[in-house]
Amino acid sequence: MEDDNIKEENNRKNNFIKSIINEDIQKGKNSGKVITRFPPEPNGFLHIGHAKSICLNFGVAQEFKGKCNLRFDDTNPAKEDQKYIDSIISDVKWLGFDWGEKIYYASDYFENLYDFALELIKKDKAYVCSLTGEEMRQYRGTLTEPGKESPDRNRSIDENLDLFERMRNGEFTDGAYVLRAKIDMASPNINMRDPVIYRIKKMSHPRTKDKWCIYPMYDFTHGLSDSLEGITHSLCTLEFQDHRPLYDWLLDEVTAPCHPQQIEFARMNLNYTVMSKRKLQKLVENNHVDGWDDPRLPTIAGIRRRGYTPEAMRNFCNIIGVSKKESRIDVGMLENCLRDDLNERAPRVMAVLKPLKVTIENWQEQENSNSSDKNSVKEEKSFIEELDAQNHPQKPEMGTRKIIFSKTLFIEQDDFMENAPKKFFRLAPGREVRLRYGYFITCKHVIKDKDGNVVELICTYDPATRGGDSPDGRKVKGTLHWVSSEGSVPATVNLYDRLFMAEDPEAETDDFTKNLNPESLVRLEGCRVEKYLADAAPEKAYQFERLGYFCADSRESSKEHLVFNRTVTLRDTWAKVSQQ
Ligand code: ATP
Ligand code: MG
Repeated sequence: MEDDNIKEENNRKNNFIKSIINEDIQKGKNSGKVITRFPPEPNGFLHIGHAKSICLNFGVAQEFKGKCNLRFDDTNPAKEDQKYIDSIISDVKWLGFDWGEKIYYASDYFENLYDFALELIKKDKAYVCSLTGEEMRQYRGTLTEPGKESPDRNRSIDENLDLFERMRNGEFTDGAYVLRAKIDMASPNINMRDPVIYRIKKMSHPRTKDKWCIYPMYDFTHGLSDSLEGITHSLCTLEFQDHRPLYDWLLDEVTAPCHPQQIEFARMNLNYTVMSKRKLQKLVENNHVDGWDDPRLPTIAGIRRRGYTPEAMRNFCNIIGVSKKESRIDVGMLENCLRDDLNERAPRVMAVLKPLKVTIENWQEQENSNSSDKNSVKEEKSFIEELDAQNHPQKPEMGTRKIIFSKTLFIEQDDFMENAPKKFFRLAPGREVRLRYGYFITCKHVIKDKDGNVVELICTYDPATRGGDSPDGRKVKGTLHWVSSEGSVPATVNLYDRLFMAEDPEAETDDFTKNLNPESLVRLEGCRVEKYLADAAPEKAYQFERLGYFCADSRESSKEHLVFNRTVTLRDTWAKVSQQ
């Protein structure tokens, strides 16, 4: 019943845009076609909020058998860069969406957009204005007071045409003139008070190079590009609601090929992080994080490097749905989607993050004399035994692997306590535990260094408990993960945690970096992971038993020096921690 309610809730949430589209199809609008677009500005890396927009735009297109264009809204060369274009392409692909043959660029329409601007001027719907930025702000008025008309507003059409052409030809310096739409300085909507549609910017563009020194503004470019591509439904975030009258005005005033419908939805916000590119850029530039793909960032490149899967990301976007109301979503929900997905797909392995040496004193030894060695040093070599371990206890089809048991093992330091209370079910002097897929062992002696730190445990094993089974029904309460010295290799492990300590990092501060979590990265050296992981592909998820999900780092890990990232813990431990 509860499930049904959740489903219904999701449908309802998912459906406000879909139901508009559905109705349009019923009415035969746009000949029943659905074409959407995802229009990033290439001025930073994509983040989880963008993933929502991607899933929505591509998802709607898929569902209604239409198509979704990937279009770069590249009208501001001052902030844009090819590296951002490349990363966006790779991120959308990673999320699993297909934009077809062609990638679209607003800059491909610069010539068309220029013609649209000429059309407006010729209709006396646009004029060249020489007010400075500051003057324009003063003339604009406020929410309660109307604006004032620019002295240039009644310039003749011919003069406007001449000046606009000369702007294009590079005769003026940046800021000397702008082209403005001639709408209504008294409009209650400030966006309609003669908005700037072209500005002079003597700057090379990543794609058009030095061809242009005037660039169209976002609002002018966006709707007209939509129309040039035959977009039927232009889905955007709520802050564009007040821009919709301008979107519609422009499309009505020029001979645009079609008039797409702009529909707004609420931005996604997540707690314990920041999401706007400007803020992410600040974190990157001030070295609070290690680049745009730092695994702590909510960028797609970051979560990917951290070990998130596209399936989990898409599922999350589906569950949260689409609404008209802004909200802050609990990042725990995203992590749960991730756990659900990784639980299904991640093979189980064993790794010890803070190793404590365990010597099995009754383990048999082989003596190997090394005859090629002149000094004939006798080398003690411990006998090793291969045991079977399941790759996924609930999924026998994922098979088994061999793990090595030998005289020298490692367990977690935390799994031993010298003066253990009764309820401590792990290892303690005189107590017996099961080593997963291995044997039962009992702790006989504790070896300490001169400072009193426990450095080694001397234990015995029970040969009758091979595989971790008890032959006589003897019960042990604790089962520990472990590795053997021969069956493991060293590794570095990055324990990632939330980047911010505050649920809303921007609340009650003018500098959100003050809320950074100093423990968001704990780097552990000298960990031991099963040998089998030496070949782990980057970004592929493994469950380290009892510890969480991990993946090899795509940038740092190599066969010579393995580096693993913790993707997510097995359970949500944060809720507990923040209550302490
Ligand atoms: P930011 O504010 O993070 O810089 P933006 O809106 O400036 O984002 P664009 O590159 O212009 O980034 O966005 C591309 C598309 O992604 C737009 O349609 C935008 O509305 C959408 N988008 C951006 N952030 C979010 C978000 N948090 N939730 C949903 N959609 C988003
Ligand atoms: Mg933007």
